Amino acid sequence: MKSGLGKIMSNLDDRDWFQKAMDEVHKKGKKPRKQIDYFYASWAGDCVRAIQYSMCGMMPDDIDAQGQRRMDNGNYMHNRYGDYFKSIDMLVEAEPAFKKDMDGVLVSGRGDLILLTDTKAKTLAELKSINDRKYQLILSAPDEGDFLQWNLCAKALGFTDGIILYENKNDQLVKYHFVKFDEEKYKQVINDFILIDKHNKAGTLVPKPAVYVNSKYCQMRKECQ
Ligand code: SF4
Repeated sequence: MKSGLGKIMSNLDDRDWFQKAMDEVHKKGKKPRKQIDYFYASWAGDCVRAIQYSMCGMMPDDIDAQGQRRMDNGNYMHNRYGDYFKSIDMLVEAEPAFKKDMDGVLVSGRGDLILLTDTKAKTLAELKSINDRKYQLILSAPDEGDFLQWNLCAKALGFTDGIILYENKNDQLVKYHFVKFDEEKYKQVINDFILIDKHNKAGTLVPKPAVYVNSKYCQMRKECQ
C-alpha cells in the first residue's frame, strides 16, 4: 500500500533529479523543533507571542530551499568579513558565543565579530546581508530590530560601542553605522523576555501585541487568537 502511494506521488512529481536534489539538500541535518527554556538574542524586538510559540516548539519550520539559501548566504557573509578583517589584523574573535542569566532569564546568542579599532580598543560588529529595498531604508540609521539585537549582544558581551555593517546583496555596496549601547532599549527587550518567561512558567499565553506589523507573514497567524 505504502509503496503504491509512493509510486503515485513520484509519478505526480515532475521535478527532475537535479531539482529534487536542490530542494532536498537543505533538509539534511535539520533537527526537529523542541521546547526550550532560554531566549535567543536574535529574537530581540520580535513579537512576544511568536517568541513564546518558538519556545514551545510550535513555530512550523516550513522554510523552503530558496529561503534556506537566503539565510545561508547571510551566514556565510560573516565568514567572508571575518577573513577580510583577519587579513588586516583587525579580527579579535569571530562569533563570540554566550549563554547567560540576564536579569533573571537565560539568553543565548553570539556576536558576529569582535574587531580592533584604530586606537586598538575592541568593538563589536554586527553584519547584515540585505536586499536593495532594505538597503534604501538603512542609509540614515540602522534598522531598529538589528540595533536591538546588537544592543542585547553588547550587554551580554560587555561592549558599549560597536558597528552595524550592511552589505547590499544585489551589488555588494556597504553601509555602516557606529552604534552605542542603550540601557533603555536593553530594558525594553529584556522586559519582554521576562514577561514571556512568567507566562511560560504559569502555563499561560502571553497577550498578543495590539499591533504587530509582521503578523501578515507569521507562520502562526491562523492559530494565533
Ligand atoms: S500572528 Fe502576529 S501576534 Fe500572533 S504570533 Fe504571529 S506575529 Fe505574533
